[in-house]
Amino acid sequence: MRTALLIWKGIMSHSVTLNGLDGTVVEAQATTTPGLPRTTITGLPDPALAEARDRCRAAFTSTGTPWPTGLTIDLLPADLPKAGSHHDLAIAAAILAATGATPAAPNDMVLLGELGLDGQARPVRGVLPMALTARSRGFRQIVVPTGQGGEALLAGDVTVFEAAHLADLIDLLNGRPRDPRILPVPAATSPAPELAPLPAQVEWAVHVAATGGHNMLITGDTDIAATAAIYLAALLPDLTPAEALEVAALRSLAGLDLGGRIDTRPPLATADPTLALAAIIGGGSRLMRPGLISLAHCGVLHLQDAPEFSPAVLEALRGPLDGGHVSIARAGGATRFPARAQLVVSTRTCPCGHPDCQCGTNMIRRYHARTAIIATRCGVTCDTTGVPAPVPADAATQVARARATTAQRLHGTGWACNADMPGNIARAGVPAEAMAALDKAVERGRLSGREVDHVCRVAWTLADMAGRPKVSGDDVSRALDLQPGWQVAS
Ligand SMILES: [Zn+2]
Repeated sequence: MRTALLIWKGIMSHSVTLNGLDGTVVEAQATTTPGLPRTTITGLPDPALAEARDRCRAAFTSTGTPWPTGLTIDLLPADLPKAGSHHDLAIAAAILAATGATPAAPNDMVLLGELGLDGQARPVRGVLPMALTARSRGFRQIVVPTGQGGEALLAGDVTVFEAAHLADLIDLLNGRPRDPRILPVPAATSPAPELAPLPAQVEWAVHVAATGGHNMLITGDTDIAATAAIYLAALLPDLTPAEALEVAALRSLAGLDLGGRIDTRPPLATADPTLALAAIIGGGSRLMRPGLISLAHCGVLHLQDAPEFSPAVLEALRGPLDGGHVSIARAGGATRFPARAQLVVSTRTCPCGHPDCQCGTNMIRRYHARTAIIATRCGVTCDTTGVPAPVPADAATQVARARATTAQRLHGTGWACNADMPGNIARAGVPAEAMAALDKAVERGRLSGREVDHVCRVAWTLADMAGRPKVSGDDVSRALDLQPGWQVAS
């Protein structure tokens, strides 16, 4: 019995399963019981994972490696649902060891990758978050399909091997001389975007939004709104190392190429009305895929032609806008993705958007009312009329300076920018006279309480931009001019 236990311990190999960005190391154990005809996989595999049996058997056949009879593969922890086809390499390693074809994989090795029926190792999504999980649990060697080594290396402090085929894995585990270890390559930095001139009030509104972290609503020319979104992302400060790693992990999980580096610039994602709910919010039937709202995490999400989005999508955006994360219900629990993005919501002036518009007043009102659920979460608005003027060269420096003032004022509160401030805190610094005027506007139904909170937060941003320690009445009236609800009511 004792001997059996020792053999048992020797034939396990490791992979990682993900729920959102949260990973758990999975142990794959293989045993053979003579007399049992079937191969069984236990440990709550999803359908993609259950098919590993067929993929592995075909891959073994392709390399001429004998497939054992009476094979049982246990995936531990047994009570944790496991999704995806990326456990194939770990399962194959456990079977190879159980049959004596290779020694067991080292205890500090994690194997990630799908096997094709021809034995090719196929790339998988989520290598970076899985490698980060492995490293944080003390694993120091990672095997991935060829082409994904650079991504695994981004986890840091790990040795990475690439395998193109099951035969490479067999060579690696047998310690054959071929060394497919991957070495880091110096990464290039992303070039600053070339910005087209923007109308003065759009430039100003973007500047305010970048300083205070406010969501924006832009009415008019959708091309100008698209340029404004690029400009906003360009004005935001660099991500912290932890933020940059989280953003890269989300991109990895979405199957996007990281270009062999962790980008420290805030991301920009653009969503148009043709996209499905899952593409914007996230979802999928197997290994959950983050949506555009999560790919814009710590950056900017541009909603192009927002009134044309389905009400279900706009409704679904409410949760991440208010809570900073997406939660997607699935069998056995919910998957959570970070989704703290700054919005640029663009709308045309009317449903047709033509200069010789003949849309009726009611039609135009209904068109704009469709985005009410999002517009009430925007602190800054502008239209795209006016003559384009060059974007100031030192705008990013000005934003950084004003943000430093904000950070000093909010130090120790846990709020990073003015848009994060709770309404009562933002209101507390507003001069009594200006506050009374805002209260009167609420009484008359011209502003909602939520809109007053926005006005106070934006007023703080304007004070920070001017380098003043207090909000003035003038800051409040200028913030009011940038408030979407006020512009509609005026
Ligand atoms: Zn029209």
